[in-house]
Amino acid sequence: MAITVVGSVAYDSVETPAGKYDRRLAGAATYFALAASYFTDVRVIAVVGDDFGPEQEAVFKAHGIDTRGIERAAGKTFFWQGSYLDNLNEARTHRTDLNVFAGFEPKIPDAYRDSDFLFLANIDPVLQRRVREAMPDVRLVAGDTMNYWIKDHRAALLELLKGLDILLINDTETRMLAGTNNPVKAARAVLAMGPKTLVVKHGEYGATAFFAQDAANASQRSTIRAFRAPALPLDEVVDPTGAGDSFAGGFFGYLASSAAAGGIRPAAFRHAMFYGGVMGSFAVERFGTERLQGLSREEIDERFLLFRELTHLE
Ligand code: AMP
Repeated sequence: MAITVVGSVAYDSVETPAGKYDRRLAGAATYFALAASYFTDVRVIAVVGDDFGPEQEAVFKAHGIDTRGIERAAGKTFFWQGSYLDNLNEARTHRTDLNVFAGFEPKIPDAYRDSDFLFLANIDPVLQRRVREAMPDVRLVAGDTMNYWIKDHRAALLELLKGLDILLINDTETRMLAGTNNPVKAARAVLAMGPKTLVVKHGEYGATAFFAQDAANASQRSTIRAFRAPALPLDEVVDPTGAGDSFAGGFFGYLASSAAAGGIRPAAFRHAMFYGGVMGSFAVERFGTERLQGLSREEIDERFLLFRELTHLE
C-alpha cells in the first residue's frame, strides 16, 4: 500500500526554549514522509530550489522514500522561520518565503498513479484539490490545513473538504473552521462540510477522532461517535515543529500498512490514532527531523506499548 503525499519540502529556522537552528531540511511533506516511511511505501510530490542537493535527497533515500515527484526549479527552496518561546503548542511565524513554491504546479509522476492512499499536507487548497482530482482511484484521502487558508481562502477550502475522507487539524483550527468553541458542536459542523472523519490534534494532550454518523443511525444517537488517544507525557519538548505532520504520517502510515493486510477495521483506526501519537512524541524529542531519521520499528512498537499502558484499565 503506497501513500503519495503532496506538500512543502522546506528549510526551517526555529527557536524553542531548548535552543535554535538555522536552515535545516524540514517541511510538512518531509516530516510526514519520514514518519510514514516506518510503516509503508511513501512517494513525495513537492518543489525545491537549487539549494536542495544530494545531501538532502539522501535523507529521503535512506528511508526508501520515492522522490521522483520532487521537482527542481530555478530559485530557492521554501523557507519558514518560527519560534515557540511563549507557547510550545503554537508556532509563532516570523517569516515565510514561498520562493519556488510560489509557482508550484504539482505534477504527478506516472509511477505514482497506482497509489492507494493520498495525503494532502498543508498547502493552498486549490492545489490540494487539483492533486486529489488527478488521483481519482485512491482508496483513502486525508488532508491538513492551517489558519491562513481557513480565514482567507475559505471557499476553496470548503470545496476541498467535500472530497476528503479524513481531515486532521488542531483545536484552534477546528474552532476557527466551525465558528464555534464547543468541541462537539465544532466537530459536527466540520463533519457536515464533507470529511467522514475529523481528527483533532490537542498538542501535548493527544488527539480525538470524530466520526460522521451514517444516515441510518443519525437520529438514534445524541452523542457523537468519537475516539480519544493520549499523548505521551514528556519531560521536555525540545522542538514541537512537525509534530502534527509526524502524527499524520504515523496515523496514515499505520492505516496503509493495516489495509495491506485486509480492509481497514475500526480497531485499525484506533491503533492508527496511537501510532500518530507515537510518531508525534518522537518528533518533538530532538530538533527538526533528527529523531525521525534515526528510529527503528522496534523503538516505535515499544513506545506504542507505553501508550497502551497510559490508557489501559485492567
Ligand atoms: P507542523 O506539523 O504544523 O509543525 O508543520 C511544520 C512544518 O510546516 C515546518 O517544517 C514548515 O516548513 C512547514 N510550513 C510552515 N508554514 C507553512 C506553509 N504556509 N505552507 C506549507 N508548509 C509550511
